[in-house]
Amino acid sequence: MAKDLYEILGISKDASEQDIKKAYRKMAQQYHPDKHKGDKEAEKKFKEANEAYEVLSDKQKRAQYDQFGSVGGAGNPFGNGAGGFGGSYDFSGFDFQQGGAGGFADIFETFFGGAARGGGGAGRSSKKGPRPGNDLEFAMELTFEEAAFGTQKELSIAKPATCDNCHGSGAEPGSKTVHCETCSGTGEIRQVRQTLFGQMATAKVCDVCAGEGRRPEKICSVCNGSTVIRKTERVKVKIPAGVDNESTIRLSGKGEAGVYGGPNGDLYVHVRVAGSKKFTRKGYDVYSDAHIHLLQAVLGDDIDVETLHKKVTLKIPAGTQSGKIFKLKELGIEKLRGTGVGDHYVKVIVDIPTKLSRKEKDMYIQLAKESKIPTKGKDGFLSKLF
Ligand SMILES: [Zn+2]
Ligand SMILES: [Zn+2]
Repeated sequence: MAKDLYEILGISKDASEQDIKKAYRKMAQQYHPDKHKGDKEAEKKFKEANEAYEVLSDKQKRAQYDQFGSVGGAGNPFGNGAGGFGGSYDFSGFDFQQGGAGGFADIFETFFGGAARGGGGAGRSSKKGPRPGNDLEFAMELTFEEAAFGTQKELSIAKPATCDNCHGSGAEPGSKTVHCETCSGTGEIRQVRQTLFGQMATAKVCDVCAGEGRRPEKICSVCNGSTVIRKTERVKVKIPAGVDNESTIRLSGKGEAGVYGGPNGDLYVHVRVAGSKKFTRKGYDVYSDAHIHLLQAVLGDDIDVETLHKKVTLKIPAGTQSGKIFKLKELGIEKLRGTGVGDHYVKVIVDIPTKLSRKEKDMYIQLAKESKIPTKGKDGFLSKLF
């Protein structure tokens, strides 16, 4: 539950404008961060007082708070988001210069100090702070063999890369570093604007020095101080043996260059493996077909089989059926990270002769008689041949 705003300032609900101002000034001085360096409790009290004052010093907001118990967003009496001030704060009607406990600048430090440097944070987006480079994606086609055995490829990629002239500093080589006049060396730009609701104060990271407070005397003549230039870089990609279709290889730091000292992005290479006329692949195993003659299947034989690695002799036993699969151990694809080798499977397909010489045909007929192949009696096709 949010604390009661009147309670925070220690005043009654019918306090006058003057009472509110007085109570706030007292608290702001009492809990001012200058007097309580590193004291979280004081810091919290100081913030609460500011938040309470923001609502109660504004007639409209105060009326709304009295009626609904909140201003703006649900459950948040301050109506400015859970994070606090969103980078701006209304100091209307208050002169901190006379506060005694410190000036306007100190209040700024409380709200914007520390985190303002280097960018980030609500309402303080820094255009010039360090930013990581984008990741890049690239598609690469490999042959069946390249994927199986691994290879080395080179890609030409046009991308933002770290400037060669300034090596990413943004300064012309040999240039001195000088005090940043734009932000007076504080690293941030403070602005106080007059608005309908009074004065609005904002702070943002200095564009000129990126919040450093110091800047190069001469900015880099090649990248104009942006630290990156667009150029075509050749990137070597090592394809490990065993890589499969639709795998992705990540090259850390080979994406777009980071800006102002931010880290580089990564390069992702998506691999597509082309098919092979001789082989198919399932995981790390390779499959191929071997056609043999009917008589080789019947009588048995030795045949030559091509694998990824070498030609091997495969023994076909007599009486081998068409479709039988033989395993050739560890003649498949090397597994990634050297965890073994897949196998090669040969599927034997028995070819039935389609063209016979007169003599061959006679011999097949002889064979059919000898084999007593069951036929459909005297009317069967085969029996008519005899
Ligand atoms: Zn500056
Ligand atoms: Zn440069």
